[in-house]
Amino acid sequence: MNEFEVDLLAFGSHPDDVEIACGGSIIKFAQEGARVAIVDMSLGELGTRGTVQDRQREAEEARKILGAKFRENLELPDGFTFPTRETINKVIKVIRKYRPKIVLLSPPFERHPDHESLNQIVRKAMFLSGLRKIVTEENGIPQDPWRIRKMYCYMQSYPFQEKASFYVDITDVYQAKLEAIRCYISQVYVEGKSNPNEPTTRLSRPEFFDELEARARYFGTLVGFKYAEAFLSVEPIGIASLSKLL
Ligand SMILES: [Zn+2]
Repeated sequence: MNEFEVDLLAFGSHPDDVEIACGGSIIKFAQEGARVAIVDMSLGELGTRGTVQDRQREAEEARKILGAKFRENLELPDGFTFPTRETINKVIKVIRKYRPKIVLLSPPFERHPDHESLNQIVRKAMFLSGLRKIVTEENGIPQDPWRIRKMYCYMQSYPFQEKASFYVDITDVYQAKLEAIRCYISQVYVEGKSNPNEPTTRLSRPEFFDELEARARYFGTLVGFKYAEAFLSVEPIGIASLSKLL
């Protein structure tokens, strides 16, 4: 195993996307001993509030709470990330670097165009990363191909167009998830800390946390937990035996 190899690689378009969509599931998995990496596609330079420097500092603070070993930013253009050959190549390189067993990504139908693009970029890169004739290198060293079929979409602004494939119980880590989100003082409402002179956004209203809780409670109710996060599997899920469902 190389030093970067992880169990889970979570992709987000902007710093804070991963925390909001699936922060609880990541914290829980990391607490169980899983190695986690987060790759943000852009610095969020088009964000209405805060600066790139603020968001980078906040993302690093949040990484610690999530329990992720690695976090990096591909510095693709915020608002204009497309599945170009150059972008897909960058993502193939990080997939081959981290060699994840599971990848988390945005769903295919989303409000922010970058989120939809992320789904396309990562799915294409996941396929191409397994092909040995696609040659990439990291620091001058050729990378081995890496193949993975466990790709799960987290939920962002829009509800899924179909039923979720599964729900993860985040009851025990729900407060830690909120703590990770509150690292983004420039983006969300943090009492006494947020800058009241910046324009209001959907995330910067205090009600955003009520909305987040309502959704987590609803998903929890569906499956008998207090709080849950919903996921959509890109490929059909196969299990070795019914015993795996016990
Ligand atoms: Zn985003």
